[in-house]
Amino acid sequence: MLVNATAMLQAAVKGHYGIAAFNTNDLEWTRSILTAAEELQSPVIIQCTRGAANWQQGFKVVKDIVEDLVDYMKITVPVAMHLDHGTYEDCFEAIDAGFTSIMYDGSHEPTFDINMERTAEIVKLCHSKGISVEAEVGGIGGVEDGVASNGELADPEECKAIADLGVDFLACGIGNIHGLYPEDWAGLSMDRLAEIKALTGDLPLVLHGGTGIPTAMVQEAITNGVAKINVNTDLQVVMAKATRAFIESGKDLEGKNYDPRKLLKPGFDAIVDRAKELIVDFGSDGKGWA
Ligand SMILES: [Zn+2]
Repeated sequence: MLVNATAMLQAAVKGHYGIAAFNTNDLEWTRSILTAAEELQSPVIIQCTRGAANWQQGFKVVKDIVEDLVDYMKITVPVAMHLDHGTYEDCFEAIDAGFTSIMYDGSHEPTFDINMERTAEIVKLCHSKGISVEAEVGGIGGVEDGVASNGELADPEECKAIADLGVDFLACGIGNIHGLYPEDWAGLSMDRLAEIKALTGDLPLVLHGGTGIPTAMVQEAITNGVAKINVNTDLQVVMAKATRAFIESGKDLEGKNYDPRKLLKPGFDAIVDRAKELIVDFGSDGKGWA
């Protein structure tokens, strides 16, 4: 059974640990994430963007795969199916598809007022269905916004205004960036995180762009109120690297290694291993039903 992400993230705030939200791309990706979470008895959020959903033939297919694997694999830890960076329209589609958690990213709306208005509407609808909601203030730096050395810093007052709408967790820029970090990156702003935390209290905060931030810095952010850490690029990179190594070694030419179950296995094994490392780094291992 899939759950929403509210209880697991509230428990994480109380227990001062973080929960990984891994993006999925297909059935094997989902299986690898679930394998890692179950082995370490960690709650987990599996999330999907519109782009990755299109690749998998729609939100419903993604949700059905996650749900069916949780059932088939006899997963015992809490698993949430979350929409990552949904537009206003995406949210309704993912809700209809049975997602248990939704991120409405109104940071790209023309005005903050529109972000507020639409977030309030989505919160009302989702809560009537037991679905958790993540909202976003400001924007997260990254390639799609033009490469910048430093991510954006969210306005604490805007964070409070959105938090007061009843969102269950909040994404706010504290210098983080999507994708890989430039070498001259300034790091996360713990000062801004503290200012946001002071106004939003126990609301779980979300760190987007979890790939390549030094582990100690992520752990410091967790200590200061971050409860959900989004990880996408990291797993893509380890998957690609393991696949490349397999092919470069020439093993793909041996026996029946052209079989996708053999050809892609090193990549998916690498996802399991890396996801387990991150779960331990974030401290959610053993917190299955904390
Ligand atoms: Zn993001």
